[in-house]
Amino acid sequence: MEKDEFRRWGHEMVDWIADYLEDVEDYPVNPDVDPGDIKDNISSSPPQEGEDMEEIWQDFQDDIMPGITHWQHPGWFAYFPCNNSYPSILGELLSAGLGIQGMVWATSPAAEELEEQVMDWLRDLLLLPAEFRGVIQDTASTSTFCALLTAREDATDFNSNYEGVPNHLRVYATAQTHSSIEKGVRLAGYGSENIVEIDDDDEFAMKPEDLRKAIQDDRREGKKPTCVVATIGTTASTAIDPLLEIGKICQEEDVWLHVDAAFAGTAAILEERRDLLEGSEYMDSFVFNPHKWMVTNFDCSAYFVRDPKKLIKTMTIDPEYLKTAYDDEVNNYRNWGIQLGRRFRALKLWFVLRSYGVEGIKSMVRRHLELAGNFRDWIEESGEFELMAPVNLSMVCFRWNDGTYAEEELNEINRQLLDRINSSGDVYLSHSELAGKFTLRLVVAQRSTEDRHVEKARRIIREAAAEII
Ligand SMILES: *Cc1c(COP(=O)(O)O)cnc(C)c1O
Repeated sequence: MEKDEFRRWGHEMVDWIADYLEDVEDYPVNPDVDPGDIKDNISSSPPQEGEDMEEIWQDFQDDIMPGITHWQHPGWFAYFPCNNSYPSILGELLSAGLGIQGMVWATSPAAEELEEQVMDWLRDLLLLPAEFRGVIQDTASTSTFCALLTAREDATDFNSNYEGVPNHLRVYATAQTHSSIEKGVRLAGYGSENIVEIDDDDEFAMKPEDLRKAIQDDRREGKKPTCVVATIGTTASTAIDPLLEIGKICQEEDVWLHVDAAFAGTAAILEERRDLLEGSEYMDSFVFNPHKWMVTNFDCSAYFVRDPKKLIKTMTIDPEYLKTAYDDEVNNYRNWGIQLGRRFRALKLWFVLRSYGVEGIKSMVRRHLELAGNFRDWIEESGEFELMAPVNLSMVCFRWNDGTYAEEELNEINRQLLDRINSSGDVYLSHSELAGKFTLRLVVAQRSTEDRHVEKARRIIREAAAEII
């Protein structure tokens, strides 16, 4: 491709993206395809000679678009969102254009320094302790894995006394924590059997006194309490573990405290939601995902640590070919995570924060919280639906239950209800299980979701229930 052609197609695609995002509501949220349908559209071998962009673009429309799930659809109420935004897309585009790889400061000083600064911005917006330092990771799963590795290093000096991972290092979390915690525990070599499941209360939040007891019991048995993972906004129900109480226990017991606020973290920039991170002074590490609620394209996970030296000690390998003359004066982010090569993710985040302004993000989050609150009120007043968990943020957990069916039947009824709702193509919800009960989750956090979309969801849900019963 030559420069002029790039220019023409670049304009064409930016125009297309603008129209797509404007009209994304016209697509069914979920594609109507079966496994293998899309692969069947794609040639089984690559072309030997280059093809015309015209033809490639046409095939994108005909063969790829039919299998796209429209995460930016304002009827997206499933999982947690994966928001993009215009400034973020432009930041990504520019980053692709620059094509840099920021493994160390010297391989692009601006990438490293911008990352440092925007992470300080986020730290201050969330009122995290001033000594915290941040690094952008790809996902919360990776951030949590880094935390588990660092906690392991901190507890055992593992890297310098290599004798394998001792099998008595213990990690504490509730059954409500995200699957990435167990994955990280396994990968870091603790062993799944060393996850100690702490009971959660009737709001699905960790019981701090149970945590204290589990830690003390373990210590008595010669085990080493190593890391507590608390969640602010669990995936199943946005439950909020009591950070302040957990933090005090971790301090008294000298255990690493990692906090996963992958979705909820963004809401903590609101003055009225400072409660979410109350106790942050006790954290050793913290993660939230701007790629969920802070309208920054996937991937962008903000990972913060109290003491970067511990993270760096865990991650640093220093071959001669990666040494630079500036290593004593700068951050080399290659030593702040698993990967060596690093994308320039700070650019899109900077674009978002500058273009929206803090107030712009706050007002979007407030709108979502209000819409979810209205939906909760509707569920409560409906007489045929019931709330399954407190609405702590902008997610409502509910199910159909008019009181006339047995508990065993309700799971199946609600499973069918969800399928029917989603077959509308106008909205997309997902589910979880709470106390053994099949639960529908409606998350209001898509950037462009307005009152009318939630209203439409209410109508579809009501009609689907009427059809099933
Ligand atoms: C989404 C989520 C994760 C995983 O996020 P990734 O960035 O996809 O790894 C972890 N924990 C919680 C609480 C989440 O909501």
